[in-house]
Amino acid sequence: KNFEEAGLADSFLTNVKKANFEKPTPVQKYSIPIIMAGRDLMACAQTGSGKTAAFLLPVLTGMTKSGLNSSSFSQVQEPQALVIAPTRELAVQIYMDARKFAHGTMLRPVVLYGGTSVGYQIRQVEQGTNILVGTPGRLMDIIGKGKISLEKIKYLILDEADRMLDMGFGPEIKKIVTEMGMPSKTDRQTLMFSATFPKEVQEIAAEYLNHYLFLTV
Ligand code: AMP
Repeated sequence: KNFEEAGLADSFLTNVKKANFEKPTPVQKYSIPIIMAGRDLMACAQTGSGKTAAFLLPVLTGMTKSGLNSSSFSQVQEPQALVIAPTRELAVQIYMDARKFAHGTMLRPVVLYGGTSVGYQIRQVEQGTNILVGTPGRLMDIIGKGKISLEKIKYLILDEADRMLDMGFGPEIKKIVTEMGMPSKTDRQTLMFSATFPKEVQEIAAEYLNHYLFLTV
């Protein structure tokens, strides 16, 4: 299967071509149809496997298909997708990829991470965002200030879940998920990526995902 056959929205296909992605990597080949079908997913995939595009492309396509297009974007936007990642470097990488894939569309990614002034990031959120990427601590911080509504989140992505738990972010993730409503809220699609699948990751998968598919590549 190539990217054209995967059913991605045209604007994203154009940007995939511009990125010189010729054919999907294994994690992309298997994840994209699962995510497009609306299923929750737990994928074991390493950095370098192409996991970022594996979740961004179908999530962006889903957001476009659910009518989140040009005209509905004139108002201040509340995020419809939330990506949580362990480190600033990874969050920025995901954000850059989201910008690259969303180029030429009205989708606006914003990234939040610690170790830098919070004011600029709050202004970015206040200008509206559809896809919010962040590290757990800074996300909690800005959510705690009442600056982000999580009411419209349709897609929750936990990237490098094992690393987030190793770094002690379990409680922050739990708070953020609780803030979004029930842990396994059924009108939300939850995707987890992790290099390894130890007991702690299995536990949060069981708690946050709904009838999920398990993929290992
Ligand atoms: P990731 O595992 O998401 O960090 O991606 C690792 C690297 O592979 C990044 O530099 C991506 O831009 C690149 N990449 C991802 N998918 C593809 C693909 N299908 N073809 C070529 N390069 C890719």
